[in-house]
Amino acid sequence: MLTSIDIIKRDGWTRAAIANFLPYPDATETWRYAGHGSGLRFFYDDDRVLTVESSAKFGTWKEQRAARITKATIRAGKAQAAEQARKEALAYAKAGRLARLADLYPDWHNALPVACNYLFDLNRYAKHRECGLLTRDTIYAVKNNLIEILYHHGYSTACYEHHTVFDAKICYGCDGTGEDEYCGACMRCGGTGVFAPPKRLRFIVFRFRVNGEHYCWHQPDNLVRFPIVTTQEPAEFTVTIQEKPVSLPSEAVGEALEFIEWVMAQAINTESTGAWMAAKLAAPSHEAIEDVVAQRPYLFAEAST
Ligand SMILES: [Zn+2]
Repeated sequence: MLTSIDIIKRDGWTRAAIANFLPYPDATETWRYAGHGSGLRFFYDDDRVLTVESSAKFGTWKEQRAARITKATIRAGKAQAAEQARKEALAYAKAGRLARLADLYPDWHNALPVACNYLFDLNRYAKHRECGLLTRDTIYAVKNNLIEILYHHGYSTACYEHHTVFDAKICYGCDGTGEDEYCGACMRCGGTGVFAPPKRLRFIVFRFRVNGEHYCWHQPDNLVRFPIVTTQEPAEFTVTIQEKPVSLPSEAVGEALEFIEWVMAQAINTESTGAWMAAKLAAPSHEAIEDVVAQRPYLFAEAST
């Protein structure tokens, strides 16, 4: 007698084949193991299994199954090859674009006006609801690095702090009354009527002049991890959370990011301070951060209201 496990180990057999060619067992046995419950074990007569194996129907089934496996394997192989080809084509196209940039801008400083215009558009795009979170993070990382490069290469015309206070958010569960409709305490705000306290934020304003054009970018204070010298007293300002028109079509976002990243790579590779910049851009070392904290003691302190 053979169990179904024994049969599956034989050539051509699967669970589907057993169900198809041996619809009922010749004997059953109840098995019971402590902690494993119980079940039925099926046994099949050896001769019956051999008879099925020598039948023409079983032979055809085996051939069809082999053909299905071959086809699936080819399909998977083709998909893999296509994906590989696509990746190679993309890498080739990118290498071509970067080579053209190198031809166009033997001195990377000359690429800065275009990079700044791209960053201007990207910065607006990042605030747009169409922008995904991943792209937003990439844009802000690129913004950080380009600002640092512009600052270190003498394009800064002004640099100062902006302080802004966001008003407290009133609870919309109770409209700020703190009471629910049964005159109990509102569950959402714990009866305070306030959903979020007022928040005070600090930004660093960077003003640059590149090729006669003026640019102005705000960076959250905690993102600026290089020493700066402010050129005027901190100022209060009000944030407008209004979307501004975006002139950059979303298909061009990748192109804009690629361009700025290329400029940053050139700046790091060709400057005499290259090694220092590369180290700083890769990851701010502990000493580098300590340095910044020493010069701007408020940098990592919690903003107080
Ligand atoms: Zn409430």
